Amino acid sequence: MNTYIESVLKGVSIRHSSQPEFVQAVHEVLSSLSPVVDAHPEYEKADLLNRIVEPERMFTFRVVWMDDQGQYHTNRGWRCQFNGAIGPYKGGIRFQPNVNESIIKFLGFEQTFKNSLTGLPIGGGKGGSDFDPAGKSDAEIMRFCQSFVSALYRYIGPDVDVPAGDMGVGGREIGYMYGQYRRLKGAWENGVFTGKGLSYGGSLIRPEATGYGAMYYLEQVLRHQGDTIEGKRIGVTGYGNVAWGIVKKAAELGAVCCYISGSDGYIHDPDGINTPEKIDYMLEMREKHTGVKAYAEKFGCEYVPGAKFAGVDDIDVYMPAATQNEINLEDAKKLAASNVRYYIEVSNMPTTAEAVEYLRSREDIVVAPSKAVNAGGVGVSALEMAQNSERLVWTAEEVDAHLRSMMINIHNVSAEAAEEYGLGYDLISGANIAGFKKVATAMMEQGIF
Ligand code: GLU
Repeated sequence: MNTYIESVLKGVSIRHSSQPEFVQAVHEVLSSLSPVVDAHPEYEKADLLNRIVEPERMFTFRVVWMDDQGQYHTNRGWRCQFNGAIGPYKGGIRFQPNVNESIIKFLGFEQTFKNSLTGLPIGGGKGGSDFDPAGKSDAEIMRFCQSFVSALYRYIGPDVDVPAGDMGVGGREIGYMYGQYRRLKGAWENGVFTGKGLSYGGSLIRPEATGYGAMYYLEQVLRHQGDTIEGKRIGVTGYGNVAWGIVKKAAELGAVCCYISGSDGYIHDPDGINTPEKIDYMLEMREKHTGVKAYAEKFGCEYVPGAKFAGVDDIDVYMPAATQNEINLEDAKKLAASNVRYYIEVSNMPTTAEAVEYLRSREDIVVAPSKAVNAGGVGVSALEMAQNSERLVWTAEEVDAHLRSMMINIHNVSAEAAEEYGLGYDLISGANIAGFKKVATAMMEQGIF
């Protein structure tokens, strides 16, 4: 490894020893960059790497709300404005009890390179709260969102920082947050949030975008390998918005999604989740936080409580789409020993460092990184911002065509970047290098900052 990178990594590990997810994400990106840093000594001279691992700004705030019984609750909120070199900070808001500074910071760091890969002018940001939306009434959700935005609104804006959804935050929450922003600002400014409802500036295909984009990316991987999507059997972890988009597009393309999972276990539907009734039911499951058991009960298929499906022998493609570090070394070994030949990360950093290392060492498996595969979500968010700026509404076909060409481009620039530095078909290094280069160039050209 390049000695400058080594010294930066050492510093990050020491300074942030209490932020394991952040340290992991930085290691994952920087360890791909040796050939680039070797070829560009000016980066070391400008100490670019120590700058790029430091958020431009990150803050925490108090979010107080009242439940339906009149009890007060205090939660913590965060926003990380990681890097604004190529556009306004852009990234989702996550509501989940395990959210902390390390998680928001790692997500903001990842977002910076992901957003760069989209080819659109969006910087990297992320935010969230340790608020648990499960079991809350609609009125409680609304009061929480209003309180969250009351604390945040001064620091965001269509040209400043543009939040969106993430785990625990969907269209309903974005509506309440945007409503509060508009009330406080006294201005329409609706490019300030993305993932909005269609009646007030949202984009068609935004809810589907992350899952659709992942499938378009997978198509390119298969094409590169001389393989096709028809009849491919896919296992998806999670059952949220992203898994729903994958399942929907997979059915359309003639693939068979036969596993989904939740924190309660997994279900196996050998016929595939491929009818409108089955696919739409996933939306209901997500909204009600039912777990996947509800699917098995409704459609009469196998449900395995408390287990993961890594290692089952009837899938070719494994797509983790639940949360960070969900796939550990043991899972990776199991799925590598099965018939899985394509490991396509979808949720942000779903694989532990040892598990990625193991999977990458297996020459019989193609591994694709989440920051490329899931970039279609934020990519369509950028298209929503474009529509808001020009005060026009694009058709679903237009948005979908943009999304598809964006995903083809992300795959190709990643493959080409890896090829350029003699790394072969290494989609992880390629995505890191391609994402990094644009941000690095912008930072260098903008001077010390
Ligand atoms: N939360 C999504 C992500 O991880 C989408 C962010 C956005 O649309 O700004 O990329």
